[in-house]
Amino acid sequence: MPYLWGVDLGGTKTEIAVMEAASLRILERHRAATPVSKGYDALLDNMASMIRQTADAAGLPLPDVVGVAAPGMKDFRTGLHKNSNTTALNGRPFHDDLMRVLGRKVILENDANCFALAETRLGVIPEFCPEARVVFGVILGTGVGGGLVVNDRLVRGAHGIAGEWGHNPLEEDGTLCYCGRNGCVETVISGPALEQRYLAQSGHALKLVDIAGRTSTDEHARDIIDHLIESMGRALAVVVNILDPDAIVLGGGVGNIEALYTRGPLAIARYVFNNRFDTPLLRPRLGDSAGVLGAALLTEPGR
Ligand SMILES: [Zn+2]
Repeated sequence: MPYLWGVDLGGTKTEIAVMEAASLRILERHRAATPVSKGYDALLDNMASMIRQTADAAGLPLPDVVGVAAPGMKDFRTGLHKNSNTTALNGRPFHDDLMRVLGRKVILENDANCFALAETRLGVIPEFCPEARVVFGVILGTGVGGGLVVNDRLVRGAHGIAGEWGHNPLEEDGTLCYCGRNGCVETVISGPALEQRYLAQSGHALKLVDIAGRTSTDEHARDIIDHLIESMGRALAVVVNILDPDAIVLGGGVGNIEALYTRGPLAIARYVFNNRFDTPLLRPRLGDSAGVLGAALLTEPGR
């Protein structure tokens, strides 16, 4: 097939991209608001109409197969969607419904996995770490997730949860997580968790980017960023001890904080089973289009 089609269903925007299969050149890319308040069927209909409109606008034939990135994952045993923070998808036969409404084959993948695949094939890895064979892609934002790519291929795992370090336990008796457990990594170092911690300490509501910008003058802000770095170090050291990746890519809004790159490696080094930690922590290159590009890459022949 000469074209690769991908759709990224996000909590706020839905994006579509078409790439030329041979060159991986992007031919078309569009985004629209996700009609999340209108419910499950509206999400599906919106994706179908975006595909039709893109084909019409670009003069391309409708695709035989579409790669779709979405939060959460399909339960292989029941066929129902699970673990999605876009909760309208949970408990629904989302993959089957997508194929029915779109009228074509769909390869559905977790959005953090698509991020990891895109950055490995098209983003920061070819540029800065072309020898890397094991890449761990981290999403550190409103939620905390991850994806594992080995030899340019996604590792999904027996339950489809490979790379989901955001729900490893980090704080005993910690905050209740949407997943039903307490003290998950996500409840400690997600953007909302850090903003909540700052509010509780200082009495002021600030966005994380503003908290990070005032660490030299605000002791509460300094404490929040110290807490983020130390907690990320402990949490990522668990991943490093299992996978020992060649490179780690830090995506998501929290991943923009400069101190993660300057102080993060030392924080990880304190907890890994080695006397040093040399793995590069890399900034992603593809911005928030990594999800849609990874989705399109799912449809590459031979994948
Ligand atoms: Zn959790």
